[in-house]
Amino acid sequence: MNIKQLLTGCRAELIELYRDFHAHPELGFQEFRTQDKVSTYLSAIGLEPQQIAGTGVVAELRGSRPGPTILLRSDMDALPITEETALPFASQHPGIMHACGHDGHMAILLVTAKLLNSMSAELPGTVKILFQPNEEDAGAWKVVAEGVMTDPKVDVAFGLHLWSQCPTGTIDIVDGPQMAASYYFDLSIKGRGGHAGFAHESIDPIYISTLIIQAVQGIQTREVNALDPAVIMFTRMNAGSSATIIPEEAKLQGSIRFLYSNGKKLFKRFESVVKQICTAYSASYELSFKKGNDLLTNVPEIAACARAAAAEVVGPEKVTTEIRTMAGEDFSDYLVHAPGAFAFVGCHNPANGVSYPHHHPRFTIDEEALAIGVELHLQCASKFLKCAG
Ligand SMILES: [Zn+2]
Ligand SMILES: [Zn+2]
Repeated sequence: MNIKQLLTGCRAELIELYRDFHAHPELGFQEFRTQDKVSTYLSAIGLEPQQIAGTGVVAELRGSRPGPTILLRSDMDALPITEETALPFASQHPGIMHACGHDGHMAILLVTAKLLNSMSAELPGTVKILFQPNEEDAGAWKVVAEGVMTDPKVDVAFGLHLWSQCPTGTIDIVDGPQMAASYYFDLSIKGRGGHAGFAHESIDPIYISTLIIQAVQGIQTREVNALDPAVIMFTRMNAGSSATIIPEEAKLQGSIRFLYSNGKKLFKRFESVVKQICTAYSASYELSFKKGNDLLTNVPEIAACARAAAAEVVGPEKVTTEIRTMAGEDFSDYLVHAPGAFAFVGCHNPANGVSYPHHHPRFTIDEEALAIGVELHLQCASKFLKCAG
């Protein structure tokens, strides 16, 4: 099969699909129109799409003979952002925007499914085509809970993200940790309120909060190996109602992220610092953690296979191993159950007016990157089916 030839006929359709998704963004677990469009397309090319995790879609594409099972995954959701791109196909839904590139991912995976289906006679094994809802709030767990990794069991999982930090025409795939584990905390410091003039009769939760914020920085800089990336960030603090009143309570929120295994030790040290400072100043506290994403770690053998596929697409000199990020990605949930790899496909191109970062109201993608994404999926599927078989 000649993948580049197959792709030539699909460029206009790819852009049309991308622009349509872009104009009709939907938030996580509300991707109803999106789901309908994806299902209709997959049915039209002869597959049998199934609903999964509410607004998700999965379809199995079977080759002509037995073999391994590969998962190809796209996310589907948009963000609560008011678009400022002034594109002719800008969001028609006020306050909602595809500002992360998931619209492009869907166009890429639909055309991938169509082309893979057209070459199914040459393929061994099975390719599961998955459209996953609610990536921005870690929705992958629901798809996994509904059995996407089993029956047939997935042998290799592959996903990609159009990436605004890489120029169009490049693909970046690292070995090992690639995107951070992310957890969120809610911390409430409970003191004793009173008059600002009689602070000695109160327990001031604002003062105690500032001590905790300062002390916690020492965990990052003095207790974690400087070669292990970790972030403990306070992002919200609410307390008080007046210039004359010491409040009863201060509420803080933030995020703990790490890009190495066994980073969960940070939670214990964080709580220990909170507890001991509160004890020292006779305050009490409540602390809870919420999981965002697991650490996304590429399996080196699969990543090497994906880089070989990427080299066929953009040439070996444009395949890099540079991007590790403290942003999270719920593709990590699939990698708990099967080896796999995740690729960053460059979509940054100031010459085409594409220069804003992900989640910015003027974010857009270089449409030239769409065909690269399709070709990468096809090359990866082909290589994984051979390697894993
Ligand atoms: Zn995003
Ligand atoms: Zn994203």
